[in-house]
Amino acid sequence: MDMGIAGRTALVCAASKGLGRGCAEALAAEGVNLVITARTKETLEATAADIRAKFGVDVTAVACDITTPEGHAAALAPCPSPDILVNNAGGPPSGDFRQFSHDDWIRALDANMLTPIELIKRTIDGMIDRGFGRIVNITSSSVKAPIDVLGLSNGARSGLTGFVAGVARRVASTGVTINNLLPGAFDTDRIAVTLVAQAKAENITLEEARARRVKSLPAGRFGTADEFGRACAFLCSVHAGYVIGQNWLIDGGAYPGTY
Ligand code: NAD
Repeated sequence: MDMGIAGRTALVCAASKGLGRGCAEALAAEGVNLVITARTKETLEATAADIRAKFGVDVTAVACDITTPEGHAAALAPCPSPDILVNNAGGPPSGDFRQFSHDDWIRALDANMLTPIELIKRTIDGMIDRGFGRIVNITSSSVKAPIDVLGLSNGARSGLTGFVAGVARRVASTGVTINNLLPGAFDTDRIAVTLVAQAKAENITLEEARARRVKSLPAGRFGTADEFGRACAFLCSVHAGYVIGQNWLIDGGAYPGTY
C-alpha cells in the first residue's frame, strides 16, 4: 500500500535504537526525509548512515538530550516545520513510589509529558497552515494497564495522554492528526533493562526472566521494532486522516480487557 507521504519531512525523537529507530526506518521506507535525534553522537550517526544507505532519503542526525530546552531547539533547527513529528524519549526508572523524589518526578514529566507537548506546540501551526500533519507519541501500555513499579511512567504518560485527547480533537478539522502508540513488550534495550530488574527481584537468571515474560504474552514472543514502526508509518499516512486522538495498544494481546 502506498502511504502517500513520500517527500514529506519527519522529526523522529530518540531514534538511534529501539522503537524510535523502527519508526524512522518505516517512514524512510515510505520516502520520508528525516531528522533523527539521540544523545550519543556516534550511535546516532551510524543509524543515520544505515538509513540513508538503505532507503536513499535525506537523514539529518542531531545529537542532543531531547528532554531539555536546548534539545528542543537543536532538534528543530534543521527543519523547524516538519510534516510529521514522532515524540519519543527514554522511559523513567522503576521503583517504589515512596523513593521517588521531586526531581525524579520532574525528570519523568520533562521526558514523557512536557517535551512532547513542547514539540507539538512548536510544530503544529505549520502543519495546520499546510493542511497536513501527523503527530505520533510513543507512550506505553502502562497508560491503559498501569505497572505498579513504573509509577513515574504511569503518571507522566497519562498526563500526556489527557493533553492529547483534548488537542487532537481541537485540530481534527485541519488535516492534522495526533495519536498515541502504546507499546507492550518489545525486544529492545529497554525491555532488557526491565528483565534484569525482574531477574534480580525474583532471584532467577536473566534467561528464566525472559522465558517467563515471553510465556505470559498471548503472542508467545516479544514484538519487533519493525512491526512497531510499520504501525507508526500507517498512522502517519494519508490513509489515517480519520484516526483522531486514539491510543493504539500494540502488545501481542497482553492487555486482557475487551475494550
Ligand atoms: P530503547 O532504550 O531501546 O531506545 C531508546 C532510544 O531513545 C535510544 O535511541 C536512546 O538513545 C534514545 N534516548 C533515550 N533518552 C533520550 C534523551 N533524553 N534524548 C534523546 N534520546 C534519548 O527504548 P525503546 O524500547 O525503544 O523504548 C522507547 C520508549 O517506549 C521508551 O519511553 C520506553 O519506556 C517506552 N516503552 C518501551 C517498551 C518496550 O517493550 N520496549 C514498552 C513500553 C514502553
